[in-house]
Amino acid sequence: MGIRAVPRAAPAVEAKATCASCGRPLALLKAPTCLYCGARNPHAEPESGKQAIPPALLLALEPKLRPQMSSQAKWWRRMLIFSISSTIVSALVGTCVKH
Ligand SMILES: [Zn+2]
Repeated sequence: MGIRAVPRAAPAVEAKATCASCGRPLALLKAPTCLYCGARNPHAEPESGKQAIPPALLLALEPKLRPQMSSQAKWWRRMLIFSISSTIVSALVGTCVKH
């Protein structure tokens, strides 16, 4: 059951685009020409490929990176606050000791 539930490696990825002249699967959809026979790749549309990644998706991917950054920033801020407060405390203590 468990093994059957595991999906096989998607074979549809290779079958997505095949060369019109040689019929081989196009490894690179963005490549303007076939890697095997050099025929023009009808599926190759670099500009549309760029548009395939909408800004909404990029925004959706960003929050994954933000928590790490924010936590790191928090830690840096804590360190900064701690160092500043420690220096202030030490300065105050120093003045107190001097007096
Ligand atoms: Zn080809």
